[in-house]
Formats: sequence, structure tokens, C-alpha cells
Amino acid sequence: MRSYLLRQLRFCSVVGLSVMVSACGGNGLVDGETTLADGSAPLPPPPTNTSPTVPASGNQGGPTTNPQDGLDDQETINPDEEETNAAYNCVRSIDVNYYDEPVNIPASQSPPGGLAVEDTPLFVAFGFDDNIAADGMKNITDTFQAQGVTATFFHSTTYLNTQTQPEWMRAVSAGYEVANHTDTHNTSTSTTSASWSNEISTCYQKLSAASPSGLGATAIFGFRAPFLAYNNELYGVLAQQMYWYDSSIEGGYDPAIDGTNHYYPYTLDSAGPDLTYLRGAGFTKTDFDFTARPGLMELAITSLIIPPDDVANEYGFEPASAPNTWPNLKSFRERVKDKFPGQKGTDYERTGYKVPGLDWNLLFDAQVTPSEFLAVLKYNFDLHRQGNRAPFLFGGHSNYYPNAAPGPDRLQALNDFITYVKQFPEVRVVSYKEVFDFMREPKALSCY
Ligand SMILES: [Zn+2]
Repeated sequence: MRSYLLRQLRFCSVVGLSVMVSACGGNGLVDGETTLADGSAPLPPPPTNTSPTVPASGNQGGPTTNPQDGLDDQETINPDEEETNAAYNCVRSIDVNYYDEPVNIPASQSPPGGLAVEDTPLFVAFGFDDNIAADGMKNITDTFQAQGVTATFFHSTTYLNTQTQPEWMRAVSAGYEVANHTDTHNTSTSTTSASWSNEISTCYQKLSAASPSGLGATAIFGFRAPFLAYNNELYGVLAQQMYWYDSSIEGGYDPAIDGTNHYYPYTLDSAGPDLTYLRGAGFTKTDFDFTARPGLMELAITSLIIPPDDVANEYGFEPASAPNTWPNLKSFRERVKDKFPGQKGTDYERTGYKVPGLDWNLLFDAQVTPSEFLAVLKYNFDLHRQGNRAPFLFGGHSNYYPNAAPGPDRLQALNDFITYVKQFPEVRVVSYKEVFDFMREPKALSCY
């Protein structure tokens, strides 16, 4: 039987009447008012400032299949097969605003589409959650714009008010991606399906409302759970409301992942390597029965390895002091472990000195300084660059970069990191949606 996701997407994409808007939930296909019966471009192109504009070409092949077919027509991308030529041809066969044929993308540590690593773009994507305060939002937006790069804002609409709305709106106008982070930011691993549904649809409705109360942002494709607290019910609701990707799962904790060999994003047609590892290792938050969600992509947040002291000089952090000398400093890894009592410290060590790839976990949980923050980001980015070029997906909170101290120092660290990554010709700083688009239809570095 065909998945609800698939049926609903098709349904929405062909009906195209305003009366269907509410039934079509909260993703990029929601714009019933502009959806055309012939399937031609229903939405303006998604925000981008790094990718060339490739005309949506409609049905030139690609995964579209006969709508009368059953679920078994779902395409599975095999990175080793005939996709190779297509990946080196820069013309897109799909419209990035449609996802009417969910593809099964199994987890892989190799680039998709048969791309050679040296021909694969290294994507760095920042997603900023909550967006509580106008000054932090402005500082992030200004910094990224000055760098000529973009980001994704995972808004929680409990923070949408007369102070934040103009800055949120400015980011929309500047082409930043808007994503969903619930309405109240009061969800957990025990949230029910009905509550997830209300949280996600209410957030969508507020974001899509016209300015000045909302943002008029209807092309919303992605979701991140507050506190990275998710459950099986969440994924059911995301599929039901036709979101295209989630970014709530922390990726790469398996000790076999050494920073150079992260998994590329994958769809939740199966639990995938991250949930599988976390559950096998006894992380209680993942202790739930998993239901397959065909085509729903997981852009797992990249876990970060606290670097060993032997790279302290290279990355500019303080190593352990020599024995019997002042200030008797422990190694960076030990200093972080001291901030993690109990099970958290045990998990940190057994996963290979890893912390979640969010600024909160670094700045407030591990309590690193802004220069250590920069060092951790650069060290992990370099591992990606020297390895398989799996996307570097970092999560932030714009309100941690306020005008007041230490906001400017943190902002400087973030700015320095962007400057650092941009020097490498294989790097593209993009939105999460652009990473999704790449996984859905991989293209070679020369196409970006
Ligand atoms: Zn949050």
C-alpha cells in the first residue's frame, strides 16, 4: 500500500485549489493557491545564494513514475549504479519544489550518485533554532550575509512577536530558509501524536501567515525537535504533514565514526545507523518502536569530537600544562569531561570524546571558550574535508550571539569559522534544504 506521504503529496500537487490548503499540511507543497494542475512550478525557487539556477525541467526522467503504480515503484538510489553519469550532468531532472515520489536513500559513507569524493561538494550547513531575540537574529543574518553565505532558521513561533518579527522577516527577504521548530517549544520524548500535530501545524500557520503577524513563509520543508527530543509519534506526524526532512537525531556517535567517515544523510525507510547505534548502546531517549517513514530524510546533526591535545597548537587551544607547572591545566578532553558528571561523561568517552553538534552543548554544557569553540569546529570540519566529505551540519541558536558580551566573541568565532571553510574550493555553505536537494539528486562539485 502506498504511503500516506506519497498519496498526500500527489493529491496536493494536482488539486491546486485554495480549499485544499489546510488539508495539505505544512510543507513546500502547501501552497495550493499557486499549484497548477499541470504540475508546473507551484512555488518560487527556494532561497539559495550558492547554487546556480537550474531551470526546473519537469518530466525529463528522474524518479517520477506512473501514478497508478503501487509502493513498489519507490526508487532506491544505488550509489554504485547508473546514477553516475546523471550526477556529473548538471541539469536537474527534478523540480526541487516537488517531492511527489519519495526516494529511499539508504545510509552510506560514500558520496551519493556514484560521485568520486574529489568531485563531491563539501556542504557546510548552519541551522539556527528558536531565534528568541532580535539582536542575535540580526547579528547572525548580518554576519552570514557579509560572508555571502546562507543558513536555515528553525523557528519556534512562541518567540514570534513584534520585536523578532521584523528580523525574522528580513531573513526571509534575504533568502534564508525557514524551518519548523514547534509552536510552544514545550515538547519531549513523551509528546503524543496529537500534540506533535498541533505544535507543528500551528507553527506552520503562524510562519505562513502574512506579514506583519507572520512571515508569509510557505515553502517550509524541514523540522527540528526542541531539545532534540523525538519519538516515533513525531516521525508519523512529520510524514503525515509532508515534511521532507527532519534534523533532530544526533549523528555519528558510533565510536567507529572518527570524523572522516560520517554517514551521508539518509531516509527513514529504515532506522538508519544513528538510531541503530544509539539504541544498541542503550541511550534511553531512543528506546521506542521505530516505524519506517518512506522518503522522510534525516539530516542528522553532526556530532563533534573534542580534539586531542596533540593538535592544540595547530587549532589554537590550550593543551594540558606540563607536570608541576602552573596553572596545572588538564587536557582539553579532560577539561570537557569534568563538565559532564555521571552517565554523560561515560557516554562522552565511550563515543570517542563526542558532543552534540550544537552551540549550546559546546558553550554551555561543555563550557568551552569562544576560541575553543572555533578550534572544535575547525578540527571537525578538517576531518570531514580530509575524509569522505559528508555534509557538516551544525546547529546553533541565534540568541547566543547578542550584542552584549560574550556575544561578539562568539560571533567572531563563528565568522572566523566561515572564513576558514570558505577558503577551500570544494566547500559550499548552504541551507539544509540544499543538502536535501543534493541527496535527492546528487550533482558534482562543478555544478555548484
Ligand atoms: Zn530549540
